[in-house]
Amino acid sequence: MARFVRAALLAARSLAPVALILAALLPLSALPAGAEPLANACKGKTYAPQTIDVTQPLNLGQLKNQLYFYACSGAYDRDLNTVLAGARAYVAERAAHVAKPAIVLDIDETSLSNLPVELADDFAYLQNIPCVPDMSKPCGFNNWELEGRAKAIDGTLALFKTAKQHHAAVFFITGRHENEKAATEKNLKEAGFEGYDGLVLRQGHDNMTVAQYKSGERAKIAEEGYTIIVNAGDQESDLAGGYAERAYKLPNPFYYIP
Ligand SMILES: [Mg+2]
Repeated sequence: MARFVRAALLAARSLAPVALILAALLPLSALPAGAEPLANACKGKTYAPQTIDVTQPLNLGQLKNQLYFYACSGAYDRDLNTVLAGARAYVAERAAHVAKPAIVLDIDETSLSNLPVELADDFAYLQNIPCVPDMSKPCGFNNWELEGRAKAIDGTLALFKTAKQHHAAVFFITGRHENEKAATEKNLKEAGFEGYDGLVLRQGHDNMTVAQYKSGERAKIAEEGYTIIVNAGDQESDLAGGYAERAYKLPNPFYYIP
């Protein structure tokens, strides 16, 4: 076992610098479509080639450089689109063959993008700080959510529309709480998610894990006779626990929800 771990570390060590150097050479001029809210955070960043020594804890500054590159270069959008194209194809093929087809979508970093606030806060999780319109200064995550300014993740909006075209119901299951319901409904509508069949928010405080809460809510949908053919989320905890034919994990290296 120790030999395997050592071999894996050596392999990762030999490959990681190559991957990062390649990434750093990609052009940053081609920002993804709809990237205007990110412009301030992406402007003036330099992305030097990095070498990672995996025998020590990873360097936080280097990791942040990777995240800025991933968010600003278009690589993140490309990876999102790859996963979501697969989900769309499956809905188009499968919906007509099951009783009461449905899809389940997470909201944050699945349906709506919070990248502007993540970049404005340099990947910290800040609360209770009023946000400036151009997002050029730190901003509270709760303030941002209550303003309802998040843009749709394009591939997920396309998945939503595909589901509607194929007469599949769409349910949002989110870790957001009830006090954010009005802002979330407004944001979803303005981002283009109109005509969904359910929005489940978390009620008060319970002792459930995210996976228990979300799979429990999917179970309730299944009990209503729906066949959940696709479940999409950016965290493994969005997807664990079954009650979906297929689970689609979207990339999110920016934060982790166990
Ligand atoms: Mg999420």
